[in-house]
Amino acid sequence: MKLILLGPPGAGKGTQAQVLAEKHGLVQLSTGDMLRAAVKAGSEIGKKAEAIMKSGGLVSDEIVIGIIADRIEQPDCANGFILDGFPRTLKQADALGSLLASKNKELDAVIEIKVDDTILVSRIENRARETLAAGGTVRADDNAEALKTRLMAYYRETAPLIGYYYAYRKLQTIDGMAPVAEVSAQIEAVLKGAAKA
Ligand code: ADP
Repeated sequence: MKLILLGPPGAGKGTQAQVLAEKHGLVQLSTGDMLRAAVKAGSEIGKKAEAIMKSGGLVSDEIVIGIIADRIEQPDCANGFILDGFPRTLKQADALGSLLASKNKELDAVIEIKVDDTILVSRIENRARETLAAGGTVRADDNAEALKTRLMAYYRETAPLIGYYYAYRKLQTIDGMAPVAEVSAQIEAVLKGAAKA
């Protein structure tokens, strides 16, 4: 099973990707997590990405496409994967399409997790507050200024992918306003449909 979870920051892509990964034995590929790991490790990619990520902007297509191209070659991805945070631009979507086509593979579904714009900011602010209260480290981009840039990047660069995958007949939209377990149930229903198709 090869899936993409699509949605704005705060939609719950990471949460749902984790649930799906455990339930179906799929690998969760989060470019955000990979880039944060690169920043922490101080690698060349991390050095290039750090300031951009902190501001809430998008890391270059070249970097993230390179990361994903290497990663999906790994043996653990043979069973399938869930992309969470990639693709985020049309160029990334085209690159992914070419990568898969070169292996005679195809996406099973692109699941758009739809949430009201008005709640995104408060969800992310709550996440930061909860992390702080639990003694954790708040993400460098979970602040009002970076969040504005992240949302802008989403609407300018990523939202067009909804139309793109709709045109490819891959898009399935679910209601991301429901409780986590219900969102998971909706995704499961979509996957059953995709398996039949
Ligand atoms: P979000 O909560 O905004 O969905 P992520 O953890 O997916 O956050 O990503 C955090 C940051 O990592 C992004 O704001 C961006 O700077 C960078 N990033 C992650 N994935 C990509 C991508 N596919 N293309 C460009 N930049 C990316």
